[in-house]
Amino acid sequence: MSQTIQAIRGMNDILPDEAELWERFDDAVRGWLRAYGYRPIRMPIVEPTPLFARAIGEVTDIVEKEMYSFVDALNGEALTLRPEGTASCVRAVLQHSLLHAGPQRLWYAGPMFRHERPQKGRYRQFHQFGVEAFGYAGPDIDAEQIVMCARLWDELALSGIRLEINSLGSTEERQRHRAELIAYLECHREALDADARRRLHSNPLRILDSKNPHLQELIEGAPKLMDFLGEASLEHFAGVQALLKEAGVPYRINPRLVRGLDYYNLTVFEWITDKLGAQGTVCAGGRYDGLIGQLGGKPAPACGFAMGVERLIALLREEQGGVAVQAARAEPDVYVVHQGAEALAPAFRAAEDLRGAGFDVLWHCGGGSFKSQMKRADASGAQVAVIIGDDEAREGSASLKPLREDAAQRRVPLERLAEAIGDYFFGDEEDGNV
Ligand code: ATP
Ligand code: MG
Repeated sequence: MSQTIQAIRGMNDILPDEAELWERFDDAVRGWLRAYGYRPIRMPIVEPTPLFARAIGEVTDIVEKEMYSFVDALNGEALTLRPEGTASCVRAVLQHSLLHAGPQRLWYAGPMFRHERPQKGRYRQFHQFGVEAFGYAGPDIDAEQIVMCARLWDELALSGIRLEINSLGSTEERQRHRAELIAYLECHREALDADARRRLHSNPLRILDSKNPHLQELIEGAPKLMDFLGEASLEHFAGVQALLKEAGVPYRINPRLVRGLDYYNLTVFEWITDKLGAQGTVCAGGRYDGLIGQLGGKPAPACGFAMGVERLIALLREEQGGVAVQAARAEPDVYVVHQGAEALAPAFRAAEDLRGAGFDVLWHCGGGSFKSQMKRADASGAQVAVIIGDDEAREGSASLKPLREDAAQRRVPLERLAEAIGDYFFGDEEDGNV
């Protein structure tokens, strides 16, 4: 027997029960983004490979080993499935000169692709909601972005997501720190692991982020970037913190928070939970004032973050158990049961008319006895069944049967069906019979 084809490892099907929860999540997030004045933008999923090499950095994990890159067999172009959204978003903003109209608050959502080792909370196709603000230089927008995350966790009833922040300073400050860091690590070269040695000159800051337990003491003693920050950087960082305090959002300064992408400067932050095991970062971002210039645009400040949807959904399930999932089930208002050749057309029309009147309707397909159809109607979760058999078809009526309460079935003319169902759902106040 031939084997059925399976999905690619690390790329998941989101089945209906799960997908309905995703929809509820999406709705909540969209409303929240609107409340903060963010507007949607949609970029292609495939981009020219050089975009990511230039934006994210040649010696980052993503560009070195995680990108799905390929050559377009038809025209030889080097293409990549986007591993993140910021680079695409900046490209789109520059290509369409959006900043001519002034600062912009934008958001996007969709799948991202990284060739990582699949495990719980880490997939090769995963989804992000991303937020980017362009043209704002001050710490106010950094703080607003962080505070807006706190509000979303509240709205989703997610607790225990803690905030870590850090400042990466300016390019010059990082350069001076980098030189001292390399000198320090050179002195302890024999203690470094292979990964750290490889990064010693290309990306030493990332060594500070190493999870290798043997390196922790060494990392602890390394020169701290914070000690290299000048007055302007410190002031910006203080400005962010003042607004976080104002909003009552607790945070911890983590001097080792460096982020895996090269484009960040000044504020960086992560939201982390302990409830998902090792993959606990549900949202991460920061400022990237240099990126627009780096991609050939007129330099403008920028700040953003991205949330991992799979991880937040996992947390929603963890915290609310089955409740969130059950509430996500989309149930029809009406189930249309019909039997006999004569009932087919009027039942089909009745279902369409009811949808036109604003009801969610499941029309029974596939025949079967009344009894088996009524079982389906019950299982669908619908509130009422509309039944059309030979008798009803002949007299141009339908029987209306409430499914969730012990009420009698009654017959109504087809032209009054929508009204009768409206009365059932909303009461018949409009007739003045309250
Ligand atoms: P990590 O340290 O977990 O690898 P990252 O720093 O690579 O994360 P970002 O590029 O900042 O992640 O992406 C923002 C968010 O997207 C992460 O905080 C996480 O929630 C989510 N994310 C990143 N990579 C994956 C993945 N492979 N699978 C699922 N979610 C992911
Ligand atoms: Mg990563």
